Amino acid sequence: MKKGSDKILVGGLQPLTMIDFPGRLASVVFTQGCNLRCRFCYNRTLLGEKAADPLSWESVIDFLRDRQGFIEGVVFSGGEPCLQPGLLDALREVRELGFDAALHTNGFFPDIVEAALAERLLQFIAVDFKAPFEKYQSITRQPVDRVAYGRVADIIVAAGIKHEYRTTVHPGLLSDSDIMLMADWLEEKKISNYAIQKFKYGEALDQSLPPVNASFLQAATLFKLRARFTGFTLRSDDVSVDSLKQAA
Ligand code: SF4
Repeated sequence: MKKGSDKILVGGLQPLTMIDFPGRLASVVFTQGCNLRCRFCYNRTLLGEKAADPLSWESVIDFLRDRQGFIEGVVFSGGEPCLQPGLLDALREVRELGFDAALHTNGFFPDIVEAALAERLLQFIAVDFKAPFEKYQSITRQPVDRVAYGRVADIIVAAGIKHEYRTTVHPGLLSDSDIMLMADWLEEKKISNYAIQKFKYGEALDQSLPPVNASFLQAATLFKLRARFTGFTLRSDDVSVDSLKQAA
């Protein structure tokens, strides 16, 4: 089998996660390079084409072999993993070692997602949803292809793969009505799992973004989202939907 070793740039490895691959103990492979420059991005070291401290793919495979029987899954995150010419080969290698595989993507690479799903290389996919499309570039600071993004959603739903769409919220970038517009689009696409993540202050690419307090979205918005998605998740260090009073 052709190996992905010379075609995948690895910028980091997280040995163990219990949150990035639902239902699996997993390791995370962070690939190097991204096509976007999101203002809230906290993976700035992974954005450029060259990793400060790159890992060889062989060393990643050796690491995973040592953990067979303990780790259940491998997550490909980034950066943007779909930019890697060796991603599909790397996924095949990981699957041949007996691991389940997950992909975290910004959602603009339908051909790669389609090919991976056609071969059943993925068991979970998480897709960023940054903004209503009219506002997308104000956050990503790079042009994006709305048609390609829509195709990815269609491919995911048609395949029936476990998935999550996720939005990082900073109230200076997204309003409650923006979020509801995005929810409309997700519902139209029949996406059933949606997560809202509170902006993490400190490491953001755009250092002018101020910290965010617990009321970064209105309680009423969160309740509406919970009612609209069978799988709704709120990721915040200081607020949960259940802790909020139902707005009148
Ligand atoms: S947050 Fe944006 S810039 Fe950062 S890795 Fe993800 S898609 Fe790329």
